[in-house]
This record gives sequence, structure tokens and C-alpha cells, in this order.
Amino acid sequence: MTVKTRSSESIAAAERLLDFIAASPTAYQAVKELSNLLDAHGFKEYKLSELKQLKTGDRGYYLKNASAIAAFVVGADPIENGFQIFGAHTDSPSLRIKPNSISIKDGILRLTTEVYGGPILNTYFDRPLSLAGRVVLKSDNYLKPKIQNVDLEEALLILPNLCIHMNREVNDGVKIAREKVLLPFVAMANDLPEDPELWLRKKLAQKLNLDPSSILDYDLYIYECAKPSFVGEEKAFISTGRLDNLAMAWAGIYNLAKAADQIGPGLKIALATDHEEVGSGSKQGAASAFIRDFLESLYLALGASRQEFLASFDRSYMISADLAHALHPNYSEMADPDHRPLINGGPVIKVAASQAYATDAVSAGIFRSLCANAGVPCQVFTNRSDLRGGSTIGPITSTRVPVSTVDIGTAIWGMHSLRETGGTDDVLYMDKLCHYYFTH
Ligand code: ZN
Repeated sequence: MTVKTRSSESIAAAERLLDFIAASPTAYQAVKELSNLLDAHGFKEYKLSELKQLKTGDRGYYLKNASAIAAFVVGADPIENGFQIFGAHTDSPSLRIKPNSISIKDGILRLTTEVYGGPILNTYFDRPLSLAGRVVLKSDNYLKPKIQNVDLEEALLILPNLCIHMNREVNDGVKIAREKVLLPFVAMANDLPEDPELWLRKKLAQKLNLDPSSILDYDLYIYECAKPSFVGEEKAFISTGRLDNLAMAWAGIYNLAKAADQIGPGLKIALATDHEEVGSGSKQGAASAFIRDFLESLYLALGASRQEFLASFDRSYMISADLAHALHPNYSEMADPDHRPLINGGPVIKVAASQAYATDAVSAGIFRSLCANAGVPCQVFTNRSDLRGGSTIGPITSTRVPVSTVDIGTAIWGMHSLRETGGTDDVLYMDKLCHYYFTH
């Protein structure tokens, strides 16, 4: 048997991505990781009011709610050349902890949860889980509380299945009753030394080394403790949670940071918004005014008039990057017969007549040329004509920032599983593509 030897470059690119995902259990940690990376490449964080007198070579980033990020590098003649965006999202489907989080039933301490986005719920059962997110803390000014990220890291939670002997039909498909069943177990309540109702607050306070009474509130999500890994012969695949869409958020920001010293013409932007999995309708989501406000502030700081800013839309371009569905051989009838993207086959252009994807022939044509110039193969996806399919940030940003937009993404299996499967080579393809985009 001969096996293609996977390049060390390809494996190194995938390892970088997996390390980033491992360090980013929620959007808050992801944005922190990305801003640390930008800091290391000479980028500076700006408030919008601090954006003044920008010139070619300047670089920086803007944070919204610490869960969305937009980074820029000024290339040559940004007014004449317009802006080039690579956009993704920071959030992933999960279970969110409810405010009154403790439920004790039959002596078991459980946490109450609400479903965030569209996870494949059966993948949450029978595996060690942990909690991460952010806590909001008291400060001297009630209008400006302190905010701190938190990752409990330990295996603290488990959602055991019902045994097969009490549910003989389990392998024929089971309806998961969200309110009744999605309460992961923490402990036997009587085993806890203190009031079990205070367990979560105490745990958070202990982790952050502060007094439990200083915690005002929290945004916490469940994640799987097992680390991301390679899988398959010759490390063919990568297996991890949150590939959707940390893979694309990473591709944009990492490659903009690396390309900053050789930036191409125009204003180059890599951004990642929050709340895509629940429709993008929040101040830090793609439907917010913040992307347009950020762009306008940049143009004013470059000396452009508002009219010149608005006119730049017709010279600009956006790649909206989110993952795509790879052909699954065990369910190949679910794929369109003529559009069958493969794992490790390169980025996928996503097309939908409904405008669930923003792609048209012009934006797709530009993207095909970009792939050819970057030496990267390119595939196409459409839904089977009788399936509705998903959507992403491309069509939403297009209604606020009306520029030529293409929806693309790497093909994966098991989208929205607690552990999704992607292709190792596809990570390097995205790096090459983004590098070319930002340097030309
Ligand atoms: Zn997504």
C-alpha cells in the first residue's frame, strides 16, 4: 500500500489551528487568543474615537463586547482601492448555563441549561464536559463592572444516557426533551461540604481567586474536555469541537497578522462576529451596525469624506468564510448529485438562489481567480434542490455593507457535533488563500 506522505507544512498548519481551538472553549477566549496574536505582530487595540490620521502600514484592531473582533492593515491607496474583508464568526453551538443554574433532583446536583444555536444534542452525552465563558464582577462604578474570562478546565459535568434496557428503541432515533434531559450532573448533593446551591459561584470564585460575593453574573457555556486531535492514516483528518467556525476566524486573523509587513493595496480587514449560530442579531453580531461604524471610522481616519467612504463600497470585496458540508459516503444521497465537495479538496464556494449565501457569478469569479493565483484547489456547493440548507454572515453583512460578497468555507463532516471532522490539508489551503488575499 502506498500512502501519500502528508507534508510537514500541512501538519504544522493544522497543529496551529488545533492549539488555537483548544485554548478557545468559547467566543470570549477565542477573541482573547486572537487579540494576543495580533499584539505579538505589532497591532494595537483602538477604540473608535482613537482612530485618527491613519496611513499606509498602520495596523490595529477593534473589539466589540470582547466576543467579536475586527483587525485592519492599511495598504496602498485605500480610498482608490477600496477594502477587502475576510469575515467569519467566533461562536459555536453549545449548551448555555441558565442564571438560576442549580437543580437538585433525587440527590443529584445538576446544572440547568438552555440550547445555544443548533448543536447535534446526542453528541453531548456520556463524555466529560467542562464550563467556560466570562464572569461579571462588582467594581467601584456600578455602570462599569469588571469582566473576566473564566475556563474551569476540569472535567466537572456529565450527561449520562438512559441505559438501552429501559429504551430498546434508542438506536432507531430518540427525541431529546430539552427541558427534562439537558441537565448535566455535577455531584451527589450530600457529598458537598457546603450549600449545594452555592456550588457554581464558589467554583468560579475559587478558580479566579476572588470572593464569591463579588460575582454579579456570568455567561457560561459547556464544552468537551477531550482535546482536539488528528485522526486517520497519515493524519488525514482533524477531530475537534468548534471547527465551525474557529477554523475560519483563525484563517483570517492569523494570516492578516502574518501578512502585515507585506500588505497588498487597499484596506485589508479580517473580522469575526458573534451570535451567528442564533441569527447574528446582537450588538456584536453581523446584523449590528458595528462593522459599518468600524469601516467608516477607518475611512474618516484615512482622510476620506463620508461620500468617499460610501463610494468605496463599489470598489470593495468581502469573503464571508464559514464551514461547508463535505460529501459523506454513508449518506451520499443527501448531497446534490452535481456538487459534491470533498474533505482535503480545498475551499468551497457556497451558492444558493435564495440568497442564503451572498455569492453571485461576479464574486465567485473573483474567488476562483484568487484560488488559482494562490495555487489552491477550489470546489462548489449547492444544496440538493429539495433541501433548505443553512446560512451564514455573508447575506446579513451584505445588507449593511453592500459590497460584492462571496460565501466560502472548508468542507467538514458532522457540522454542529460536539466533535466535528475536517481535513488536515484544508487548513494549509486556507492559509495560502488568505496570505495571497492580504498581500495582493
Ligand atoms: Zn458557522
